[in-house]
Amino acid sequence: MGSGSSKKKKTAPGGGRVRYRDLVTRGKVTAHYRPGRRLGAGNMATVYLYSRVRDNKPFAAKIVEKDSLSNQEEFTNELEILAHLRGHSHILELEDVFEDKHKYYLITDLVAGGELFDRICNYGQYTEGLAKKMIIPMLHALQFVHEKQIVHRDIKPENLLLMDGSPNAPLKIADFGVACWMQELGQGPNRYLKCGTPEYMAPEMYQSRFAPYDRAVDVWAMGCVVYIMLCGWHPFQDQENPAKQQQNILYDDLSSLAEEEISDNAKHFIMKMLDKNPNKRWTIPQILEHPWLCANATFDNKSLQTQHERFKRFQHLRRLRKVSFAVLAATRASKMVLDKSSFKHDDPKVVPML
Ligand code: ADP
Ligand code: MG
Repeated sequence: MGSGSSKKKKTAPGGGRVRYRDLVTRGKVTAHYRPGRRLGAGNMATVYLYSRVRDNKPFAAKIVEKDSLSNQEEFTNELEILAHLRGHSHILELEDVFEDKHKYYLITDLVAGGELFDRICNYGQYTEGLAKKMIIPMLHALQFVHEKQIVHRDIKPENLLLMDGSPNAPLKIADFGVACWMQELGQGPNRYLKCGTPEYMAPEMYQSRFAPYDRAVDVWAMGCVVYIMLCGWHPFQDQENPAKQQQNILYDDLSSLAEEEISDNAKHFIMKMLDKNPNKRWTIPQILEHPWLCANATFDNKSLQTQHERFKRFQHLRRLRKVSFAVLAATRASKMVLDKSSFKHDDPKVVPML
């Protein structure tokens, strides 16, 4: 139950799982929130600015048409997971949930500062120490997710956002749309589903049809993010040839990292996150104890100017790709209006089994 109503936010006794039906606030959403402008749209939802009636505080409302879902659990799973993760300063906070005959309304923090990666582009001086300051809260948030027995499965730059435009705006991990309870990973029709975003998927996800995997896939994805932040390019990406990218993820030993002008500690840190063997890959608690984060490093003030220039180019290319993908998706959508199932199949977030 959200603070839109007068009752306290729901958490299950003993910190257990809260079920969807217990999260919904009765009554009309408009009794508690005033609808505002459109903020964005994703694969299944449109997001609007909603202001809370009692104090005018702005929130984001993610609105999903019930008809657009093949199965209600697609959406309620995200809600239940967000409810379970309430109370962490670096995770998108679920505020309230409403439902009417045709739609679901998920009210969350308004995240208005854009992507962390865009902020990095705007820095004048970029150093290892600065990168570290951004990496530490992300790791703490991920540790919290894992402690709550949840795997995010879609860690990537688009989902690392800033609360507002201020210089020290808190970072938020967002989009738990394909997150999963650890105990459910190996069950049901979606058993060990290959999902997420291909560039950030761990080798074990690619390996075979029903390959078991666990929370280590998030460490891998975060390792790719850290690599980009420190070196300015994606370690495995091949823009022209996605098949090559998969080969790189599976077999590239990252020997090129040796040539990067970053500290040895930073290189070791990256290698431990990007160990191809998920059993040897460091866990988040281990990573948080790594000397690169803990030691008073002499490299902290070294400028990463070359890497920063590369990083800006990388981010610019990502933006271009996003725009061209949006145009492509809109063209496809207009051709597929009569066939919702094939449109879903094109959803880039869930890649088909190999
Ligand atoms: P989907 O699950 O359909 O992909 P998303 O959660 O990714 O939907 O949201 C779609 C878009 O809406 C995002 O890319 C972003 O532009 C905007 N958005 C989503 N959540 C928020 C939020 N909490 N604050 C501000 N904008 C948001
Ligand atoms: Mg999304």
